[in-house]
Amino acid sequence: MKELNTIRGTFFDTINTITCDVSEANLCSSLALCDTYEQVLSRFAPGSDVWRINHAEGMWVEVCDDTITLLACAEQVRHASAGAFNVAVGSIAELWDFSGRTTALPSDEEVEQARQRMEQAVVSLEGNCVQVPAGTTIDLGGIAKGYICDCVADSLREDGATSGILNFGGNVVTIGNHPEGRPWQVGLQSPTAGRDKEIFASIASTDNAVVTSGVYERAFALNGQLYHHIIDPRTCYPAELNTTSATVIAEDGMLADALATALLIMEEEAGFALLEQFGAKGVALNTKHNLRYSQGLPIKFVDD
Ligand code: AMP
Ligand code: MG
Repeated sequence: MKELNTIRGTFFDTINTITCDVSEANLCSSLALCDTYEQVLSRFAPGSDVWRINHAEGMWVEVCDDTITLLACAEQVRHASAGAFNVAVGSIAELWDFSGRTTALPSDEEVEQARQRMEQAVVSLEGNCVQVPAGTTIDLGGIAKGYICDCVADSLREDGATSGILNFGGNVVTIGNHPEGRPWQVGLQSPTAGRDKEIFASIASTDNAVVTSGVYERAFALNGQLYHHIIDPRTCYPAELNTTSATVIAEDGMLADALATALLIMEEEAGFALLEQFGAKGVALNTKHNLRYSQGLPIKFVDD
C-alpha cells in the first residue's frame, strides 16, 4: 500500500486539501499549479484572462485554452439551464460584497442597470479570442474550481498518482480507489452544521468529481436578512432558494461544478432533468429537509 501525503493551501478564497500517494515535492507543485490557475481565471487578479476580458471595453481579447474551455462549457450549461447558470452574473455580483463588509444594499437603479448589462452579455468565442460587450463582468466562480481540481488531479496522475482525494472548498475529485482498495467515500455536509462538522451521507467515488454548492458557503447579514453569493439571473438578487445544498457527481469536475450551481438555483424537477441531460447524478436537500437523489447514485446515509 502506497503512503498518502497531505498538503493544504488557500486559493480562490477557500482552503484546499490534497491527499495523494505522491511525494511532498509533487504536492507542493500541485499547490503552485492552483496558484497559476487563479492568476489566469480570477476576475479579481489584475491582468488575468478574466480581468482582461472584463476591462476590454468590448474589444476582442486573446486568452489561453483553459479560459476558452471554461467559457464554452459555461455557455452550454447557460443554454441548457435556461439561463439559471450564467457567468455574466458578474455584473450583478460586483454590486455586492459577500465578505461581510457590506453596510448598504445596491439601489434598485444600480440593480436595473446591472440587469441590462447582464442580459445584453453575449460571450463570443473565436479560436483563442473572446469578446463581451463593454460593461459586462463575467465571473467564473461557479465553474472554475471544478476545472482546476480536474487539472490538478490530471497533473498528479502524470506524476504517478494512483490514489488520492482533492477537496477545493466543496469541489472534490478522487483519483483511483482508497489505498485499501475500496472507493473513496465523499462526505456530504449538513447545510446547517459548521464546516468540517456533521455529515448526513457519503457518496462512493472512484475517479469522479463530487461537487457541492450551498448558500451556507458564503453570506452576510444586513437588517436581519441573510444575503448569499448565489445570484438568480431572473430576479438579479441573491436567489431565494428552496434548495439549501446541491451535489453533483460526474466524471468531468468542471461540468459538475456548473451543474451544482444550476441545481441549487433551479426548480428541483428541472434541475434533475438538466443533470440527466448531461449524464450526471445529483443530490438536493431542500429547506424542508427533504432529500432527493438520482437513481443509481452510490449514496450511503449516516444513520444506515
Ligand atoms: P458555486 O460555489 O460553485 O455554486 O459558485 C458560487 C459562485 O458562482 C459565486 O460566488 C459567484 O461567483 C458565481 N455565481 C453566482 N450566481 C451564479 C449564477 N447564477 N450563474 C453562474 N455563476 C454564479
Ligand atoms: Mg459551481
